[in-house]
Amino acid sequence: MSGTMMYQPLTTGSLIDHAARYHGGTEIVSVETTGGTARSDWATTQANARRLASALDRLGIPAGARCGTIAWNNRRHLEIYFGVGAGGRVTHTINPRLTPEQLIFIADDAGDEVIFFDRTFLPAAAKLCPHFKTVKHAVLMGPRDDEAAGMIEGLLFYDELLEQGDPDYQWPDLDERSAAALCYTSGTTGNPKGVQYSHRSLVLHAFGANQPDGTCISAMDSLLPVVPMFHVNAWGIPYIAAMAGARLIMPGPKLDGESLMNLINDERVNVAFGVPTIWMGLLQALRSSGGKLPLLERTFVGGTALPPSMIDAFREEYGVELIHAWGMTETAPVATLNKLLHKHLELSQDEQRRLRHGQGRPLFGVELRVIDSETGQLQPNDGERQGNLQIRGHWIVESYYGKAENALTEDGWFDTGDIATLDPDGYMVIRDRAKDIIKSGGEWISTVDLENIAIAHPGIGNAAAIAAYHPKWDERPVLICIRAEGSTVEEAELLASYDGKVAKWQVPDRVIFVDSLPIGATGKVQKNKLREKYGRILTEDGA
Ligand code: ADP
Repeated sequence: MSGTMMYQPLTTGSLIDHAARYHGGTEIVSVETTGGTARSDWATTQANARRLASALDRLGIPAGARCGTIAWNNRRHLEIYFGVGAGGRVTHTINPRLTPEQLIFIADDAGDEVIFFDRTFLPAAAKLCPHFKTVKHAVLMGPRDDEAAGMIEGLLFYDELLEQGDPDYQWPDLDERSAAALCYTSGTTGNPKGVQYSHRSLVLHAFGANQPDGTCISAMDSLLPVVPMFHVNAWGIPYIAAMAGARLIMPGPKLDGESLMNLINDERVNVAFGVPTIWMGLLQALRSSGGKLPLLERTFVGGTALPPSMIDAFREEYGVELIHAWGMTETAPVATLNKLLHKHLELSQDEQRRLRHGQGRPLFGVELRVIDSETGQLQPNDGERQGNLQIRGHWIVESYYGKAENALTEDGWFDTGDIATLDPDGYMVIRDRAKDIIKSGGEWISTVDLENIAIAHPGIGNAAAIAAYHPKWDERPVLICIRAEGSTVEEAELLASYDGKVAKWQVPDRVIFVDSLPIGATGKVQKNKLREKYGRILTEDGA
């Protein structure tokens, strides 16, 4: 249109080109799957991404083809993110912790034509490759490796592909609405579904999530995405980091508390990202080793509810701010982030602290609403009435990959499957997942509330609340807990800590102590497994 501004498509290629042009020397540190640490930078990442795109052209991989990755967070994976997407293909990050059947289902469903995998996953890849229906090339993310070559017919090597590739390759002109990346939901119920992210949605997400009231990342920051690159694009951090020209530390396979503590300190990380279980591990490592985190300023936490006691522990003991965020595969993922408003400066420290417990306010670019689960009516934003959380915006799914039908409500909103409240300022609090919430005698009990109280008890390491069948009340809460190291806390003492914090009828009927909780592929407690095991524990025969 004449008389207005120029148009340039919002593409992931423009992100990596910006990073290379203006932040080319900024470091990308990569803990390698095969051991040791490699140092790269944004200029090298761009050149290698271009080499890769030209190599895929040479292999005859067509535009729009899905290229799967089974890999940790490392420099090659970052190059694939940009090389595949900006080259006009689709980076399909696959969760390596899935079962072989799920991995095959997902690669087939996506129609992956190439599979890139880390050396760690060689034995799994060797077993899987003969079963993939559409994969034409398997690529080991490393140099030539004769042992591996003997295990997979026709195996290609990433470093060799790059050597043959063209570092001056020019990205093709792309429609910003074409797909750049693909992720599958975890599929705890039913088969996983694919969500394709357009170039435009990824760039707008990077703009939107990195506002001052968002992740607030600059070229002075050193970022550690502990959240895996297969968990909703590592929450968009690779794209945000490229846009901001930030330093990136890729942690590779070592995600235990001690390794993270050392990496954060050795590599001078000041901002980190991960699910609560990661920070629980770090907290334990810090406490048992007497370690400190002198340079870490803040971490963004989401994926499951962040227990308020963890926010306090990190702030008081280590001077680190934990910022609660919410999102999902279908929302690219960041939709809300918890930062305060100017008017909150007048509140006491304690009141400010309480406000920070929820999942925060919507970023520019997304809108939220709460719908009464029974009547379907819009709920007022009063911070009290809960219902189904629905969302719409620039980086929200419209339909699932390969599915013709639209995934939205009739009036164009996506129903998240979460139960939440919204207050007049837009602060959202997740009460529960619709499939986890407990309905006792017609009243709702939030498992998140019950867990937060248990985890705040010093004798508890981790806890999950589930609905167990009850002949009179339909469902009653049961708490499954891991004791903290050295703790001998018993049921009565733990239940006493619920006094005054929830109504009496919300207190769990039973506490079960276990050695470990089932944790899923993205670091979340698998409550469906707990319900299978303990869901009938309150009936007389327990069966
Ligand atoms: P899944 O958990 O199904 O593997 P996602 O990673 O897409 O897939 O998870 C999205 C879901 O995770 C949300 O719908 C919500 O239930 C939960 N979730 C994400 N962040 C938070 C949070 N900060 N607090 C509570 N629940 C969260």
